[in-house]
Amino acid sequence: MSEQLDTRLNAMTVDVEDYFQVSAFEPHIRRVDWDTTPLRVQANVERILDLFAEHDVKATFFTLGWVAQRHPAMVQRIVAEGHELASHGWEHIRANTQRPAEFADDIRRTKAFLEDVGGVAVQGYRAASYSIGRDNLWALDALADAGYRYSSSIAPLRHDLYGMPEAPRFAFAAASGRLAEIPVTTLPLAGRNINCGGGGWFRLFPYAFSRWALRRINEREQQSAHFYFHPWEIDPQQPRPDGLTARTRFRHYLNLKRMQPRLQQLLVDFRWDRMDRVFADAIAAPAGLQQPAFAAGQFDGLGGSAGA
Ligand SMILES: [Zn+2]
Repeated sequence: MSEQLDTRLNAMTVDVEDYFQVSAFEPHIRRVDWDTTPLRVQANVERILDLFAEHDVKATFFTLGWVAQRHPAMVQRIVAEGHELASHGWEHIRANTQRPAEFADDIRRTKAFLEDVGGVAVQGYRAASYSIGRDNLWALDALADAGYRYSSSIAPLRHDLYGMPEAPRFAFAAASGRLAEIPVTTLPLAGRNINCGGGGWFRLFPYAFSRWALRRINEREQQSAHFYFHPWEIDPQQPRPDGLTARTRFRHYLNLKRMQPRLQQLLVDFRWDRMDRVFADAIAAPAGLQQPAFAAGQFDGLGGSAGA
């Protein structure tokens, strides 16, 4: 404990999905084949739960309804061990490809199902591949309408597949102050926001960079960060489907073997807790957060160009 760099709490989060459900695999493993593909997610989540127990860390598990339906006991273990159960949508369909009615059905169905299986209220949502941005900000209103209290679905950075670089870097009020959006943790460097909150970036950069960046956010900016990773990232033995592009192979498989030791170091170097506790003030009173003009809730609910 004495080696911890800062006493500020950060949020640890896991996006509970299997390796073949990531957006980049969509062209290679069809949804209709999901049920005949052997699942590895439960075994990997069990390892994560053991790791968190070992380090006495509580976290938030953004879980697919599809996975919860197949592994209810895993969901119940997540809850029983004191972690927060949250929603990652039903089957990893990116929000920016859904019509408002489809999105509303998806988030309501997932919330109700997780609550039924887990026996707890579900307050948080994370869109597949951070797929809420300037073209579908109506989704934030839909989340508030469905009873969610917070979202962690916007990446305030530039990326080829997602991102809204003009979004605030820290929690802001969405849906007319009814919902807190807690964006991906980033650090501005050389004129652009760099993702320092997990995913492929954490595996790409040396660990020392990630530690430096998170420490800087905690100490200099006096803000809590949040970190995200996926069960398949600690599973170097996962099957490798044919036909992936070079870019997808690079992003998905880079440094998988280094992930678990790095993660263990991260658990030691910082203090972690569940999203709903680290950001409790923001979630309890989102109307008091900064409210960017684009999030003022004036959308017509039909999607398209609102807020662009
Ligand atoms: Zn995901």
